[in-house]
Amino acid sequence: MSGCLFCQIAQGERPSHTIFAGDGEMAFLDIFPCAPGHTLVIPRQHYATLSDMPPEEVGRLFQAAAMVAAKVQGALGAAGFNLGINNGKAAGQEVFHVHIHIIPRYPGDGGGSMKSVAHFKGKENLEAIAAKLRPAFASP
Ligand code: 5GP
Ligand code: ZN
Repeated sequence: MSGCLFCQIAQGERPSHTIFAGDGEMAFLDIFPCAPGHTLVIPRQHYATLSDMPPEEVGRLFQAAAMVAAKVQGALGAAGFNLGINNGKAAGQEVFHVHIHIIPRYPGDGGGSMKSVAHFKGKENLEAIAAKLRPAFASP
């Protein structure tokens, strides 16, 4: 898609520090890393968000991300990693070409867990929420 930064990277029209180049997916270093080795994994084909992707491609993207994450962790000697997607503006997505962040974690790096991305302080009735959600999974 013209004007999409990550399509430009996928097509080699924009420089990147690519570390994995597969047929359908690729991985390159985030230009503003929040940890050494912060990596982005993308499908070469343009989809704005995860919600726009066909399920088989979602599967391939996550397989690629898991493979890349393990290699990044091993090669950099990280102690673990966070793997995540900012899906939609409300979730902090800035580049609307779906991408998975791999954030290597190091002892004492001062970061938190995935639960630190939102700060809900209310009380939730879990059964009421579950009752609202279950119909979405009911077979037609
Ligand atoms: P988002 O908030 O959309 O999940 O994150 C987009 C990420 O892309 C950010 O972490 C940002 O640093 C990174 N980024 C933005 N533009 C470029 C670029 O041109 N090249 C690379 N390698 N990363 C980029
Ligand atoms: Zn794109």
